[in-house]
Amino acid sequence: MIKAPPLSFSTITTLFLLFSISHFPGALSQFDKDYCKTESENICTDENKAFNLKLIAIFAILITSLIGVCLPFSASSFSAFKPEKSHFLILKSFASGIILSTGFIHVLPTSFDMLSSPCLNDNPWHKFSFTGFVAMISAVFTLMVDSITTSVFTRSGRRDPRAAANVAPAETPDQEIGLHASHHGYGHDLNVDHEDNDKELGSFYLQLLRYRVIAIVLELGIVMHSIVIGLSLGATNNTCTIKGLIAALCFHQMFEGMGLGGCILQAEYGWIKKAMMAFFFAVVTPFGVALGMALSKSYKENSPASLITVGLLNASSAGLLIYTALVDLLAADFMGPKMQKSIKLQMKSYAAVLLGAGGMAVMAKWA
Ligand SMILES: [Zn+2]
Repeated sequence: MIKAPPLSFSTITTLFLLFSISHFPGALSQFDKDYCKTESENICTDENKAFNLKLIAIFAILITSLIGVCLPFSASSFSAFKPEKSHFLILKSFASGIILSTGFIHVLPTSFDMLSSPCLNDNPWHKFSFTGFVAMISAVFTLMVDSITTSVFTRSGRRDPRAAANVAPAETPDQEIGLHASHHGYGHDLNVDHEDNDKELGSFYLQLLRYRVIAIVLELGIVMHSIVIGLSLGATNNTCTIKGLIAALCFHQMFEGMGLGGCILQAEYGWIKKAMMAFFFAVVTPFGVALGMALSKSYKENSPASLITVGLLNASSAGLLIYTALVDLLAADFMGPKMQKSIKLQMKSYAAVLLGAGGMAVMAKWA
């Protein structure tokens, strides 16, 4: 019979020591305090080399962001991607998937990490889910902005005789379907022809205004994340990780630009406004890098002040992005009349959503 070798005394002692270190309340606090105050110094820290790399990063990120955000615009110049074609809906689903993934995979978990950091006081930060709470309130607030601006626009649309006499608010997908059903001869009105035209004009006008509100809200939500990742690149002097980080941020901004560009496209702005929105998105991460460089003496990623500020901002932009992606972009399209007519188109669009969301999720590994 073979006897199991007895656990040696030293193994037991080591395990006991490890256990007590990790569970003794004061054991890690000294290490934590140092970690929270300063960026750890190591052989990779080289300020001059990092400075040059950051200058390159500013230009590289600017250019890749511009390429990303302009790609959907250029796609729309092909007749296959005109807004009334079904290919456009597939492209938009891809863009919506990117936005959804940004909210769920990039912004929300970062906020959870930051607000549960050991650098923050136990009370109140570890006693309550601030991330969940702020994200929830922000989602409700986005709904509020959405519904109130829509009703204000509807009223001003009613006052404008050219816009439409009977503007039926297409606020929910169901109403939208009902509206379209009446367009196709299920309405009970006698003056169908005349009212049809007015209604069609009115709902088109309203839909366009809603798309514009969505585009602006989205831009704000995305910009928040872009500036934060730029800031953390600008503040680091670690030359070992900086090169990988620059490459990751370039891809990140290009992909996210494609998502945002798809949503700006449906707002059908004139080219000046379109260019302004694209430019604003493209400069924001380079601006974050520059800001991080300027503040790198005082800005510490792990200091309680920056953890709380950035953590709360991230939580609110997560709520905004998740609400907008699910309700304004995905549900509005998939429950809309065009998709409802064809299950085949829905399947293609779902594949596009998963592709966009999956791609962005993979990118979260780096930034
Ligand atoms: Zn990200």
